[in-house]
Amino acid sequence: MSQACGAVSLLTAAVVVMFAAAGNPQTNQNLPDYVALLPQVKAKAPRIDPQKGYLVQQLKPDVYMITEGAYESAFVTTGKGVVLFDAPPSFAKHIVEAVGETTREPVIELVYTHMHVDHIGGAGMILKQVPKLQILAEEGTAEFLREMQDPHRPVPTHTFKDHYTLKIGSLTADMKVGHWHSPEGDLLIYIPDKKVVIAIDAFSSGATPFMNLDLTMNMHEYLRFFDQLGAMDFDVVVPGHHGTPANKEDLAIAKSYVTDVYNTITRILGEDRQALKTRAVQKYGPENTWAIASVIINDEINQCANEIKGRWINRLEGVDIWAASHCHTALVYAEWDVGPR
Ligand SMILES: [Zn+2]
Repeated sequence: MSQACGAVSLLTAAVVVMFAAAGNPQTNQNLPDYVALLPQVKAKAPRIDPQKGYLVQQLKPDVYMITEGAYESAFVTTGKGVVLFDAPPSFAKHIVEAVGETTREPVIELVYTHMHVDHIGGAGMILKQVPKLQILAEEGTAEFLREMQDPHRPVPTHTFKDHYTLKIGSLTADMKVGHWHSPEGDLLIYIPDKKVVIAIDAFSSGATPFMNLDLTMNMHEYLRFFDQLGAMDFDVVVPGHHGTPANKEDLAIAKSYVTDVYNTITRILGEDRQALKTRAVQKYGPENTWAIASVIINDEINQCANEIKGRWINRLEGVDIWAASHCHTALVYAEWDVGPR
């Protein structure tokens, strides 16, 4: 959780700094130079009415996505009430209003996809508007939230372990617990008759994963996630970010990117760095083992990031921003979990 909170506060701080610096070219000089937004990403970015602050997009009959451009939540009309999936605090104040634009059915149930505050930290606000709200989560997420006692993330009213089929009115949603992102648990949610999947914080449409491969705490499960989702019969995914639903092609591209990162760092780890190590030993002394390790690891990450940038910079958004962090996460997995092959 601390990583996600850190990411949110860093993002918020970055936005504040960017706005503060916008009119000051001298301050802007200290900011990194990133490549411009790719035209294909610009073209499919959601058009958010700034007065309104959010957009409701219909994905399938009865299935909708709400976004403010950066985060996503989904809702489904069932004939018996609306089931909501996640409540990002960045637009939570608009959610009940957004649902009301689409249907007269009240919100009756909220599902937490995982415990991260940036995706469900608006739940407390929804509960104030809908006091009889039922909240569903898997047990690992619920246990964490019981400990946290966070009014923004109310404790779920009902929970399950491993697997659950939520049936309300016309909705059947199959939910399986995974661990591709959050250590407590992530939900892989499938609405089979709509061919819709809700799978938050694994990949995005048009962009690389967020920092450190979407902050995964379990790279092994993260790699398996792509095969697991790829085997499912779907045509739309709500991925949680960028305000754009994803499809099978987006998944295939993301899998190809992540596989490239992993294979690249694995190959680099097998290369001889004795010359660099000798120089590091000369400079820092043989007893300064952390300095020596740091020089070698940083060199491996830099080489990996440069190779990845060369292959992906024109294909996905964010390669120059996050590739080094992706290589770092893959290095930790390849070196410590997988080990030499
Ligand atoms: Zn998350």
